[in-house]
Amino acid sequence: MKSGKRTNPMTWLIIGSGVILLLLFLMPRGGAGPEIEISQVMQMAQSGLLEKIEVKGDDLIVFTISGEVFTSRKEAGVSVLELLNERGLDPGLGGIQVDVKSQGNSFFALLITFLPIVLIGALIFFMMRRSQGGINQAMNIGKSKARPVATDAPSVRFDDVAGSDEAKQELIEIVDFLKSPEKFTRLGAKIPKGVLLIGAPGTGKTLISRAVAGEAGVPFFATSGSEFVEMFVGVGASRVRDLFDRAKRNAPSIVFIDEIDAVGRHRGAGIGGGNDEREQTLNQILVEMDGFEANANVIVIAATNRPDVLDPALTRPGRFDRRVMIDLPDIKGRQAILEVHAKGKPLANDVDLHTVAKETHGFTGADLANLVNEAAIFSARLSKTEIGMAEFEESIDRVMSGPARKSRKVSDREKQVVAYHEAGHAVVAAQIPDADPVHKVTIVSRGMAGGHTRLLPEEDRNLWTKSQFEAMITVMMGGQAAEEVVFGDVTTGASDDLQNATNVARKMVTEYGMSAELGPQAFESNQGQAFLGRYISRGQNYSDAIAQKIDSEIGKILIVARKKAKETVEANRDRLSRLAERLLIIETLQGPELQDLLVGNLPGNAPAEA
Ligand code: ADP
Ligand code: MG
Ligand code: ZN
Repeated sequence: MKSGKRTNPMTWLIIGSGVILLLLFLMPRGGAGPEIEISQVMQMAQSGLLEKIEVKGDDLIVFTISGEVFTSRKEAGVSVLELLNERGLDPGLGGIQVDVKSQGNSFFALLITFLPIVLIGALIFFMMRRSQGGINQAMNIGKSKARPVATDAPSVRFDDVAGSDEAKQELIEIVDFLKSPEKFTRLGAKIPKGVLLIGAPGTGKTLISRAVAGEAGVPFFATSGSEFVEMFVGVGASRVRDLFDRAKRNAPSIVFIDEIDAVGRHRGAGIGGGNDEREQTLNQILVEMDGFEANANVIVIAATNRPDVLDPALTRPGRFDRRVMIDLPDIKGRQAILEVHAKGKPLANDVDLHTVAKETHGFTGADLANLVNEAAIFSARLSKTEIGMAEFEESIDRVMSGPARKSRKVSDREKQVVAYHEAGHAVVAAQIPDADPVHKVTIVSRGMAGGHTRLLPEEDRNLWTKSQFEAMITVMMGGQAAEEVVFGDVTTGASDDLQNATNVARKMVTEYGMSAELGPQAFESNQGQAFLGRYISRGQNYSDAIAQKIDSEIGKILIVARKKAKETVEANRDRLSRLAERLLIIETLQGPELQDLLVGNLPGNAPAEA
């Protein structure tokens, strides 16, 4: 950057002085003509061949009568006149004309004397400047690369973020804090420091963060966790310091840390190549966040798609204690995103973005933006003036079959299985008395799961009853039970459910004394063993015979639950189908419509619970 500009004058100086030196050396000293010895000159003078001798210091230019020109040199301190006199030659009238000229080219002589000194001086000067620049540059690594240097707020608004209504709802509060902090501080409310955005890549985490800054009209300082992982230890930390300094100077403002998991992983004790650099960077982030004064009014938004690997220190209250989930968009969200990106593009009349949305199950916002762009490029290549439905279809295929997106392609059959699976969880949850109410059912995938069903407890509880645990396990079994009842076969889609169910059952048996067979004895302390900051292994403090009993008790709990789930599904087969078919159409169900499908009257059947 700056060093490039700095080398220029230096290069010119070197080239320029090189040229001057070359010219000086090439310049014939004292004029043209071959050089001859002084004795030869004298001989020629004695022979009467010379017409004129020009003297410049010790340099001589000799002109012969025949018009030839020679150069020569004499000894210093001896004059030409003396030399001629010695040989009995009398210069002057009729004799040899002697012209004494002023001492050579004094300017060039001076230049030749002083140029090397000047050059060396300049060289040293520039080298010092440069090495200083180097030092400055090394210092600059510590300066955060956080974009914008300008402190204007981004121009993105919430309207540019389609769908994600829940996330926007939660973030509006942050906008409020930034816009009018007095409103909150007056009441003694602490302004939140950190928000953790969780969502798959391309779901618009960066976009929505910029929109928060845009809505609040505050500057946005963005950086990425991966940028901190540098070569030199300590550099990441100083970058963090610098980033926060700038944010504080421009408060109210937002600091955005993308890919926080790159620095915010569980800190270990250096096993497996513990990364000191990462740890220091993370520590610095924590220090900065803790160091905000109550009204610093800088809010840190961090994004990740791996909340599971984050260091617990990051999610502690006072740090990133607010979590905002950004899900993959459902069919309505996808249509809205398509509309945002189609804005300003000429669409043909046959384009139905609702249909496109229907066909793009599993696409992220970034995928959809890409899709619209592909369709436009495709139309342009065909020299069309409008983007037609055919181009959209073509682009869907292309985005889906692209190398990175294979996993996104969900066949109709798969979608159906997922729909019945999730409907199974929901129906069982709605029918079993001790289960929590169903809040939301979706077949939009999150992580590895095809879809998910969210139950919402009516109250926070610290105490759980045995029947609540049993109900919970039964609901977990509902998904696979539905698959079995409807399709006569089960899929791998239930592995998470089974894992969770087994964990709950194990706790019931080994920690809470909820098994009649084993009685009220705790076989594992619920403290676990904190090892390197994580619960890695637990020692076994009972005999193998007990271990066998534990396993058989866990098995019993699971089998009973599974049986109950299957019975429930079978008894509510109509409800299950209605729910699943509706899910296939609108993908996400919640609120009154969901409640109606789950517990409302079935059309045709008069009373609900027949
Ligand atoms: P992430 O940070 O979650 O990986 P980005 O915010 O970088 O995702 O999103 C990438 C691009 O995808 C955005 O620039 C935008 O064009 C598009 N996009 C993603 N989500 C949405 C959305 N909800 N509405 C409109 N465009 C979106
Ligand atoms: Mg991003
Ligand atoms: Zn499930």
